[in-house]
Amino acid sequence: MSDLSELYQQVILDHNDRPRNFEKLEGANRTADGYNPVCGDQISVYLQLEGEVIRNVGFQGSGCAISKASASLMTATVKGKTTSEAEGLFERFREMVTGVPDGEVDHQELGKLAVFAGVREFPARVKCATLAWHTLRAALDGDRGTVATE
Ligand code: ZN
Repeated sequence: MSDLSELYQQVILDHNDRPRNFEKLEGANRTADGYNPVCGDQISVYLQLEGEVIRNVGFQGSGCAISKASASLMTATVKGKTTSEAEGLFERFREMVTGVPDGEVDHQELGKLAVFAGVREFPARVKCATLAWHTLRAALDGDRGTVATE
């Protein structure tokens, strides 16, 4: 295992142990629930949307380390961003985790989200990594139903 992937693992474990923004947000005006039946990951995303800007974001849920760390990093990344910036990041993120194993990763664009690049070597975990993002999108769309990755 390379030093880089070890570093990536540390970031993921850290966010799993101490998830950021792990709270049911008071004053949220958008929420959505997500479920990944393949792994059993569950998540609720809470957004405080002000016009086009995501002022605040929180999440709660339970699941594997990948799903929880991904949700933690997702919330830390999209806070303060516009809805279209968040959509763009989701597209980049999804391209990365579903890409070819040795493909280029746009570190500048993805920042810390690049720690999930290793997921593309484990197709079964892609849904764990993208669940939080699908749920974010459902919340942005104002869709109050539960989004499932299937
Ligand atoms: Zn999972």
